[in-house]
Amino acid sequence: MNKTNIKSDIVIIGAGLTGLTLAYLLRYSGKKVIIIEARNRLGGRILTKGIKTNRPIEMGATWLGNQHQRLRILMQELNISTFDQVIGNAAIYEAISTSPHYLATLPPNPEPSMRVKGGTEQIINALDAHIDDNNILLDQPVSQIISKESNVQVHTKDHIIEAQLVVSTLPPNLLARSIECIPHLPTNLIELAHTTHTWMGESIKIALTYTEPFWRSKNLSGTIMSNVGPIGEMYDHSNYEDSFYALKGFFSGNYFSVSREERLVMIMRQLNKYFGSKAEDYLTYEEVVWRNEPYSFTAYDSHVLPHQNNGHQLYQQSYMDEKLIIGGTETSTQYPGYMEGAVYSALSIAQRILN
Ligand SMILES: Cc1cc2nc3c(=O)[nH]c(=O)nc-3n(C[C@H](O)[C@H](O)[C@H](O)COP(=O)(O)OP(=O)(O)OC[C@H]3O[C@@H](n4cnc5c(N)ncnc54)[C@H](O)[C@@H]3O)c2cc1C
Repeated sequence: MNKTNIKSDIVIIGAGLTGLTLAYLLRYSGKKVIIIEARNRLGGRILTKGIKTNRPIEMGATWLGNQHQRLRILMQELNISTFDQVIGNAAIYEAISTSPHYLATLPPNPEPSMRVKGGTEQIINALDAHIDDNNILLDQPVSQIISKESNVQVHTKDHIIEAQLVVSTLPPNLLARSIECIPHLPTNLIELAHTTHTWMGESIKIALTYTEPFWRSKNLSGTIMSNVGPIGEMYDHSNYEDSFYALKGFFSGNYFSVSREERLVMIMRQLNKYFGSKAEDYLTYEEVVWRNEPYSFTAYDSHVLPHQNNGHQLYQQSYMDEKLIIGGTETSTQYPGYMEGAVYSALSIAQRILN
């Protein structure tokens, strides 16, 4: 099939928080901006299930804090508000497998974590509302970026987009391993990208919904901390209105290759230990194994530490004769890996473009 040719001033690869915030910031710049997204949905590592029925379950980014100033300003602009994560005064704590779990008193938290009312994906939807639908191409994984004398070409499944500037918002390791750049990017940049950690890339999120928050009747908050696992952390994930009840947590990333059913058996065994058989009366079970998401994560050659090489100075330069900028939360010099890092990355790139 022949590919369609499209012309633009700027192409943004990736419709996650960085890509959409950048397009939002450039909306009055007078430049044509096209966003190309591999998935058939927006948001990238922001993914809220049940958003339409106000039964939000965060399978990706969930919490922000007061320190995340740029994200908070953006959310204010978009009329999106927050509420405090319920942590409670005590958590079920399991230190080692040879001792029983117990109720540990939690110290007062002066800086509570906040959740987004209605779900984190509200931020994505609000940004999308400011961007012309015709300028977002979904289901179009980018395979090549080719620098030409007077422009740059971006090749996808169905299109060739010609522009003056391309901004990648992919995690650098994914960019370096999944998109071919012609001419090749410098070797030191490729080596850096291969050892740049993708935040939460190895994580498994799990959530169970219930008709009643049975954990509260036992004077518990739903907060679980376990060194034994496989659930390491879990929290009350009911909605802001407290009309929908859920527990949500992190399952050990080591179990990425076992089946969903096997993970569920392990979850029930662990929750039964804490709460008894009530834990088994769940309505729905949701999980996302982020390691198995090819447009978020790809493996490294060797072990890479959390946040390794995030915000590196090589990401603050342009490549391919100033026609390629490498953005995304992992490239941010402020709070890399987090939503705040994504917003900061978008702000810095917008400033570079507008100047
Ligand atoms: C389980 C989990 C929990 C998290 N919890 C928190 C939290 O509580 N607080 C917090 O601040 N942050 C959290 N984060 C991190 C937060 O989600 C990220 O910082 C933020 O969403 C990154 O946005 P981004 O746009 O930079 O990258 P991404 O969201 O990864 O966006 C990149 C986009 O590029 C697309 N793409 C990939 N390959 C291609 C290709 N070849 N062609 C075209 N498009 C492509 C992807 O589909 C994606 O949409 C969490 C992340 C995960 C996964």
